[in-house]
Amino acid sequence: MTNNAAQIRVAIIGSGPSGFYAADHLLKQRESKIYVDMFERLPTPFGLVRGGVAPDHAKIKSVTKLYSRIASHERFRFFGNIEFGTVVSRFDLSEHYHGIIYAVGAQTDRKLGIPGEDLPNSYAATEFVGWYNGHPDYHDYDFDLSGIKRVAVIGVGNVAMDVARILARTPEELYGTDIAGYALETLRHSDVEEITIMGRRGPAQAAFTNPEIKELGEMADADIIVDCENASLDELSATHLKKARDRSAIRNVKILQSYVDRGLTGKSRRIVMRFLVSPNEIIGTDKVEAMKIVMNELYLDENGNLRPRATSEYETLPIDMIFRSVGYRGVPLRDVPFYDRWGTIPNADGRVLTRHEGRERLTGNYVVGWIKRGPSGIIGTNKPDAIETANCFLEDLLNGDVLQPLDTRDESIVEMVRMRKPTFISFDEWKILDDIELRRGAESGRSRVKFTTVEEMLEALGKVPEMAGAGK
Ligand SMILES: Cc1cc2nc3c(=O)[nH]c(=O)nc-3n(C[C@H](O)[C@H](O)[C@H](O)COP(=O)(O)OP(=O)(O)OC[C@H]3O[C@@H](n4cnc5c(N)ncnc54)[C@H](O)[C@@H]3O)c2cc1C
Repeated sequence: MTNNAAQIRVAIIGSGPSGFYAADHLLKQRESKIYVDMFERLPTPFGLVRGGVAPDHAKIKSVTKLYSRIASHERFRFFGNIEFGTVVSRFDLSEHYHGIIYAVGAQTDRKLGIPGEDLPNSYAATEFVGWYNGHPDYHDYDFDLSGIKRVAVIGVGNVAMDVARILARTPEELYGTDIAGYALETLRHSDVEEITIMGRRGPAQAAFTNPEIKELGEMADADIIVDCENASLDELSATHLKKARDRSAIRNVKILQSYVDRGLTGKSRRIVMRFLVSPNEIIGTDKVEAMKIVMNELYLDENGNLRPRATSEYETLPIDMIFRSVGYRGVPLRDVPFYDRWGTIPNADGRVLTRHEGRERLTGNYVVGWIKRGPSGIIGTNKPDAIETANCFLEDLLNGDVLQPLDTRDESIVEMVRMRKPTFISFDEWKILDDIELRRGAESGRSRVKFTTVEEMLEALGKVPEMAGAGK
């Protein structure tokens, strides 16, 4: 048994980008040698980089190489297949760690709140994205696309673009990616002809970024359709864009305008961009059949923001399937404060507060990433965010204002985890799974063939319920 009473220990909950950037910053400290344990509810690490980022964006996914390097640090351990709130609690961790950092992301989606939203064939983008990425929570979904001709994607952020792109890609384009095998099969039998992307504001307010809208114009077998009306700016937007000098928005509008004269080029699918429209009602008897939309106009609110408001003009579009992509949302963790309105953990620069805009802190508890600031920003945005939080912990550590754990020994933590869930997964075990996935991919000319259920992952590791994680 080692006597490591002087060791400073931090538990990070969640293994997405924000968790890894926080770990990296803590492990790099020279003054204090900090030991980091990462707890992840899935057997696999990397959060939305594995389960969210689109399979045809392999370059973006390669950031996992950096995270694997961080995980190879001698003072880092990974406990996969361990859910905070069910398997381990805040009180359990407080007995072993000086700090707990929540990096759990935003696990659910926002709803439209319109009639018919719960009809069959009306889905959250979250579900479709998780499904095509092989996230075990979505493995059992059945997105039967045979007989589906018209799809609507509600929202004009990058997630909406991902969904539209994946629906519009050919099986040949997707084959080489790490898209889940069952999704590849389903998409192979897709009858989708038209995908309409709808934004409630105008083209100048769209949240997608330049490469994403550019990519939609370069699809192998899908035309992009933007009519003149949808590419032009209203007076308010034109003035606003000029004043704000928002280069990304200016470029978005330019790219959209470049699509206007293109017309159809004989490709099998169409991606139609519509702006200044909101879904009003989803119509159907036992499944989605149509959608009533309302035309919007923009107005300047008291804070100088351009907001949409409904006009009295409506349209009904025949639609067979709907994906809403109007934002992700955090879910509460047991015994951890939560601000329901924003779907975040209340905090001041990453220090958890007992309530939103309160003053009282939950000593030794911190938060990073989407669950700290809400679901916005790209992967890189999580780095400065995580550093800010980690620095709060380091400052509190200097001031002795952190948790005072009773037992920080390595083995007592492993013992606790093993007792609660013998099938926890270490980082070495994840690397075995990773190797198998890559090998299966190489054998079939794909970048990776993913495991998509927890059971098959445990089986591949020869794990039975009473077995503990081995190695680091
Ligand atoms: C569909 C989609 C596509 C995206 N594409 C891009 C892109 O192409 N480029 C880009 O730069 N950014 C992209 N992003 C944004 C990027 O993924 C996020 O900025 C980033 O993943 C947020 O990191 P995070 O660590 O806060 O959360 P996450 O990445 O969501 O990680 C949270 C982790 O916590 C785990 N967890 C949750 N609850 C618990 C619990 N109770 N116990 C233990 N573990 C738990 C989850 O399983 C997950 O692994 C995309 C986002 C989405 C949704």
